[in-house]
This record gives sequence, structure tokens and C-alpha cells, in this order.
Amino acid sequence: MECTYCGSDLARYDPVFVEETGDDGDRRPAGAFCNFACLSAHIDEAELTYGDACEWQPDG
Ligand SMILES: [Zn+2]
Repeated sequence: MECTYCGSDLARYDPVFVEETGDDGDRRPAGAFCNFACLSAHIDEAELTYGDACEWQPDG
């Protein structure tokens, strides 16, 4: 498994797993990160397109 943000191999870290609540109220996996710095950075970027897309598109 790789970090959702930076792509590092999570086997080398103590990873942080994130869940989110979907529109239907169910919880679903939102990502896995090698540390809180990657989690925070991912949130900052994800919020830029929040509400428009389910997937982060680096070319968008
Ligand atoms: Zn990372």
C-alpha cells in the first residue's frame, strides 16, 4: 500500500488511515498516509476541488 498523497511505501511508516462520511451517511475509506504532514497536505489540495470531483486530478 502507498501513501495517498506522496506515494511512499507505507510499510516503512506508521500509517494514518482516514475515513469520510459519504452523501448516503456511510463511512468509506478516504486514504492512507505515511504521516500527518502528508494527510494535512492532501486535505489542503483536496479542498481546492471539493464538491466538484471525487478524485484528485493532477492535470486538472
Ligand atoms: Zn506520504
